[in-house]
Amino acid sequence: MTLPLPLIHHPGYTIELPPTHPFPMGKFRVLREQLAASLLGERATWIRPDAVDEAALQRVHTPRYLRALLDGGLDHRAQRRSGFQWSPELVERVLLETGGTLRTVETALETGLACNTAGGTHHAHADFASGYCLINDLAVAAAHALAHSWVGRILIVDLDVHQGDGTARLLANEPRAFTFSMHAQSNFPARKAQSDRDVGLPKGTTDERYLTTLVSHLPAALAAFQPDLVIYDAGVDVHTNDRLGHLDLTDSGLRRRDHYVLATCRDAGIPVAAVIGGGYDRDLDALAARHAQLHHAAWDVAGAAHAN
Ligand SMILES: [Zn+2]
Repeated sequence: MTLPLPLIHHPGYTIELPPTHPFPMGKFRVLREQLAASLLGERATWIRPDAVDEAALQRVHTPRYLRALLDGGLDHRAQRRSGFQWSPELVERVLLETGGTLRTVETALETGLACNTAGGTHHAHADFASGYCLINDLAVAAAHALAHSWVGRILIVDLDVHQGDGTARLLANEPRAFTFSMHAQSNFPARKAQSDRDVGLPKGTTDERYLTTLVSHLPAALAAFQPDLVIYDAGVDVHTNDRLGHLDLTDSGLRRRDHYVLATCRDAGIPVAAVIGGGYDRDLDALAARHAQLHHAAWDVAGAAHAN
């Protein structure tokens, strides 16, 4: 017997942006539609999250930054660095997305595995937004879970093509969280932060080398840190057709990556909360299909676990 896989989604993840805006805001909606149209749509338990409350944000972001972000006081320069023009809708969406990651963590601890259909805003820092990231949902969720003693130790596995610089800095002084980032060394940010473990890959890395490198690091990190929870950022901007990423993974490479991460954690008995991370393609159908591989891999892994 298989149990339904919890998938976290809110229609408010997608808001209207000007059609020429480089951020593919429609992907969350298309991802939801694609998953609903697949077998997973019926088998999943769809959970609609609440917006995160400000107290959870205050654990990692400064009061001054939160006031500016929440009340519309981000200046021109700060907005440009964020990649977005400020609007009340934008704020509401990031509160929902962060609430979604928090709910994903909470659900994963109950069921062993849960996936958000957004999240992974790892460039947001304590006092500024950067690279389409306004609030660091990974750090907020980790800090929240630790503050409430849901878990004692959290490993963040960030496989987005960009380094998780914000997360690394926000959790640098939190010994109960271990940050592992595997990324393209040549991609943004030019100035890297220091994660607990960084693996910078050369431009053009393909499936086999990527997966071999992952296999040489992930089990060791799990064994050394012994986390009670893994938060997995499954960014698909490692794909060869991605507009921003410098790596060359195929569809098959992506599928094998996600399956490997989820199955390795399952075999170690560690719950996983997964978020979709970055992915930049003007073709929203192709992009959403790349993101959906995470949810399908989760279904395979959860199904196999329940069958045992
Ligand atoms: Zn990215």
